[in-house]
Amino acid sequence: MPRAALLLLLPALVASAQSDKGYEDDTHPRSPGTPLEVVFTPYYCSRCAEEGKIAEKKSVQLMRRPMEELAKILALEEGAWIVVETPHYRILSTLKASKVKLKDGPFVRADLERLKTIFPKFAIARDGAFLDAHERVHLYQIRAERLYAHFAALTDNKTPWLGMGGPYEVYLFDDYAEHHVLVDKFVGRANDKAGVPDHQKEAPNYMMFTTAESQVARNPGGGKGDAIFNGHVIHNLAHNLADGHGNYHRETWGWLEEGLGHYYERREQEKGNTFCWSEGRPPAEFLKPDWESVIYGLVRRGRDDPLSQWCEKLQPGQLSGIQNGMSWSIVKWMVETEPIRFTKMLQKLDDYENKPSCEQSIEFAFGVSTTVIHQRWREYVLKAYAPTK
Ligand SMILES: [Zn+2]
Ligand SMILES: [Zn+2]
Repeated sequence: MPRAALLLLLPALVASAQSDKGYEDDTHPRSPGTPLEVVFTPYYCSRCAEEGKIAEKKSVQLMRRPMEELAKILALEEGAWIVVETPHYRILSTLKASKVKLKDGPFVRADLERLKTIFPKFAIARDGAFLDAHERVHLYQIRAERLYAHFAALTDNKTPWLGMGGPYEVYLFDDYAEHHVLVDKFVGRANDKAGVPDHQKEAPNYMMFTTAESQVARNPGGGKGDAIFNGHVIHNLAHNLADGHGNYHRETWGWLEEGLGHYYERREQEKGNTFCWSEGRPPAEFLKPDWESVIYGLVRRGRDDPLSQWCEKLQPGQLSGIQNGMSWSIVKWMVETEPIRFTKMLQKLDDYENKPSCEQSIEFAFGVSTTVIHQRWREYVLKAYAPTK
């Protein structure tokens, strides 16, 4: 298995990440082996306030209005919604209770351990835990902040909200109808049968993302359960961070945008994979979880389209299925082997004066042409993704 080969390359990282706590946890993207510092406090929670766990009640602003007003507009039932405000996010949730399994992903245990600091009586069983609606929104608070910490560390971005005017707003609905009303009233997107990200442009500008668990369960490539929903949410929150980085005044190349989305989604879990094409149909090549083998086969047969032919395309919908999968692998390879150069390339996107092309940005950051980058990536794939037998 290719993953086994990769793990062989990283024994030091895994060992040190596990040695302190006895379980795996996320590490700093620029400093392998160094634990990632996840800051999810201080926080405010409407349910914690109701239960007296937080002394003072307050009203969190959502969609530029008090949360109670938004709940009325969305016709949410009293007691069915919870709002949590964290250092970088405001999350509204109507998600129901769900089982979370340790085998769902490498960070589940570490996140549940963090959840214990919010709910001291919360217990983790041998295979995971059953989370009620309240515990679940706090788990997403932790997951969103872990993603933020990783991306901010990768890009060495210390500005508030990565440069945006306010916290990232996240709407996690149980039912599609609730999500639909929000999109209809505040975003205005014809197709909302998947998650919908949006840039709210009036000052102070901010990024938002809304989705519904019932819809993700129905979508091709999606499915039921917390693991796949988590992958979908993280994929899209990664889009928001990549766009929000440097205050969002430009488009991100399709391959980089989707590459980052898939990279962060597949770090969480590999069972389900979200595709953000307008048609919402995942490519046939990448329906199964093992993408390494598919990409290895494509490269072996010379079916890996040269990156220089498609790297300037801005819309993910302009990429073919093969290119979409390749984007994931190229981004993963760059982030995990050359994080500093990767960030240099990403930062070049924000050079509004020169408006460099993708080819120029790659040359600027890596010091070689896109053709050479593609060649290096191919060589990596043939080694790292090769079947062990
Ligand atoms: Zn709470
Ligand atoms: Zn996407």
